[in-house]
Amino acid sequence: MKTTIVSPKVYTYGSLVLGGVLRDRGHAASITRDLSSDGDLTLLSLFSTSQLLDPGIRDFARRSPRIYVGGPVGLVPEIVLGELEVDAVVVGEGEEVVGDLVEGGPSEEIPGLAFRRDGEVVKTDPVPVSDLDHVMPLIPDDLKSQNVRGANVYIETHRGCLGGCTFCQVPRFFGRSIRSRSLENILAEVREMRRRGVTRVAVSGGTGSLFGYGGAVNKEALIELLRSLAEILGPKNLSVPDMRVDFVDEEILEAIRKYTVGWVFFGIESGSPGILRAMKKGTTPEKNLEAVELAHQSGVKVGGSFIVGYPGETEEDYQATLDFMEEAMLEDVFASVAEPIPGTPLAKLALEYPKEDNPLYREHAGDYRALRLSEAEARCFNLMLHGMSCRPVPRIVDGGIYSALLEEARVQGRDVRRVMDLLAKYRGRIV
Ligand code: SF4
Repeated sequence: MKTTIVSPKVYTYGSLVLGGVLRDRGHAASITRDLSSDGDLTLLSLFSTSQLLDPGIRDFARRSPRIYVGGPVGLVPEIVLGELEVDAVVVGEGEEVVGDLVEGGPSEEIPGLAFRRDGEVVKTDPVPVSDLDHVMPLIPDDLKSQNVRGANVYIETHRGCLGGCTFCQVPRFFGRSIRSRSLENILAEVREMRRRGVTRVAVSGGTGSLFGYGGAVNKEALIELLRSLAEILGPKNLSVPDMRVDFVDEEILEAIRKYTVGWVFFGIESGSPGILRAMKKGTTPEKNLEAVELAHQSGVKVGGSFIVGYPGETEEDYQATLDFMEEAMLEDVFASVAEPIPGTPLAKLALEYPKEDNPLYREHAGDYRALRLSEAEARCFNLMLHGMSCRPVPRIVDGGIYSALLEEARVQGRDVRRVMDLLAKYRGRIV
């Protein structure tokens, strides 16, 4: 039987691993980003709620004779089964599930599945994978030409996060204890990727510095990981995008400067202590600023991500974020409209929050009123503009950049409202 793994637009790391599992079980598995592929059986890897609403993906699911969905969207399988014509959803981690699923079809004997039987959704509890040292992923020939934020591929070094941020699915999907892969297993994989032409690798999200965590940050393990990866790839080909501000220090930042492209990305989210508390971020503006300053002193450039339009965010809270940016002088800024990802506490909060007070729906009446934006979109747009000027080397905003940022803010607002509509549609079943 021909099994095709489809990872639309981007090869997710999880899809490569599942491909490796099937290959080692003797299946003729192939992997593609192309939705025009056909096969007797398809595994569809989806990471964002918006993908459930993508007409191309919906049509692809309808056309496929047998199709199973996996990835972070599996956190709330009721929505996946309700929106896509698929035969089953992998609810948690997939590598110990996918072989039995492909070989025997959905069954109550397989943990971590959701499927329909006689119109009812049957769900089995997921079991987290205990040993993350997995098989060699299936590496497609065109992985070397993929570009995701500058890297050919994001690899996973560990799962789980100690944090409990209300908007984030990582601790809900992978749990709050940290499970790490062995250094040997990671290096063998990266050597093979390198042999297959991959040049630029990013250590995947969550919180990079929790690799090897065992009750405390394991600096030695992290530094050895970065040093060894840089030895294979060359220092300017490795990045460690996401870090928590409270899990870095001089030594870690020095290793980042020495062995990687020399950037960190901090999830700063807001300049308002009240909003950081509401998000259960576990940091304060002061801690965020200290970490940014420490990185700069260590010669490391900092990108910061910010969330605007969080339920309850006032004009003063938003102003505090702008003030923070002026003080921090980040080298890059990512602004997002708060997305209530299904399965997160923010999704519940957003549904309960009165629509008329939600910045996502409230019309913006300030400086950008002629642009007909919602308040959340206007804050997102303004923050991105602000991020262009509050840098060590400011960027000139010409007409092209202005239009691109405006479009980005509009698209974000539209996509988040669509996610809200989905949540409302499934409210009784998922909250
Ligand atoms: S946002 Fe980052 S720190 Fe917070 S829970 Fe998610 S991965 Fe952890």
